[in-house]
Amino acid sequence: MHELLHEVEPAPIDEAERYSRQVLFKGIGEQGQRRIQQGRVVIVGVGATGAATAGLLARAGVGKLTLIDRDFVEPSNLQRQVLFDEDDARAALPKAVAARQHLLQVNSSVRVSAHVADLVPANIASLLDGADIVLDCTDNFETRYLLNDFCVSQAKPWIYAAAAGGNVETCDTAGILSTAVNLAASMQVTEALKLLTGQPPLMRRTLLSFDLWNGERSEIATGSPRKDCEVCGERKFRYLAGEGRPHITLCGRNSVQIHEHHRPVDLVALGERLAPLGTVRSNGMLLRFERAPHTITVFPDGRALVQGTTDVGLARSLYARFIGS
Ligand SMILES: [Zn+2]
Repeated sequence: MHELLHEVEPAPIDEAERYSRQVLFKGIGEQGQRRIQQGRVVIVGVGATGAATAGLLARAGVGKLTLIDRDFVEPSNLQRQVLFDEDDARAALPKAVAARQHLLQVNSSVRVSAHVADLVPANIASLLDGADIVLDCTDNFETRYLLNDFCVSQAKPWIYAAAAGGNVETCDTAGILSTAVNLAASMQVTEALKLLTGQPPLMRRTLLSFDLWNGERSEIATGSPRKDCEVCGERKFRYLAGEGRPHITLCGRNSVQIHEHHRPVDLVALGERLAPLGTVRSNGMLLRFERAPHTITVFPDGRALVQGTTDVGLARSLYARFIGS
């Protein structure tokens, strides 16, 4: 009997069976399921909320998922970033790449494209092209305002979801509960499913916040756009125009991102050059150079994360010294 089991071909996954419970749900039905499978969703930021969101959408059977993330997996992510495992953290895999691998194991019929990139004015139009809806799972207002500018200018629906330990704090200063992450992702995906199934009037048009620990809830009606709003009314898209883009200090990392050098870097040659100066590790998708107390992580497009400082000037000079100017 044991032998026989090994000889049996693995049964293909029956798609109708896969989605049967979702189709039974009245709000979705067979027509809704077909629409979901044609849906194209872009997720910006594949950290805690983005990973949970991507997992739910892949299981729901969304047609195409585009993942955009500039970061890589670290041990401190594993407590709440549900798509990633210890191997990803040990290999320091880019989050978009690791997420894609795991999502395809969950549902191989979803087309998933992964972009290891910072979303900036120069690439936002091509990366968000063709999306039915954009889900903002970023950890910073710089990218969020850029997304808002782009989506308002293109009349493209977007949803913003975030989870943090406090109102304006990031998870760096306030800590974070994994359950809050999953709640935010669930609400975001539910709203996205209403849109993808052709039921936008059912969508929530408020800013809802939940304090999961204390059971408190508040909801702000967003109402109609204000005429004197710079973005909605005057259609001034300052972030899309790239005005005043600062260097970004990342959540939870004591680090500075340097993204002013848009030119390709040969990671192999760089690794050979840096090896005598510190510890070099590379996985082909990024290179990490450790020289206490700083670690510089370099991506092939020339972008770098300088860890161990929040001093932009110092980060820039480290970049110039070790990577190039
Ligand atoms: Zn407005």
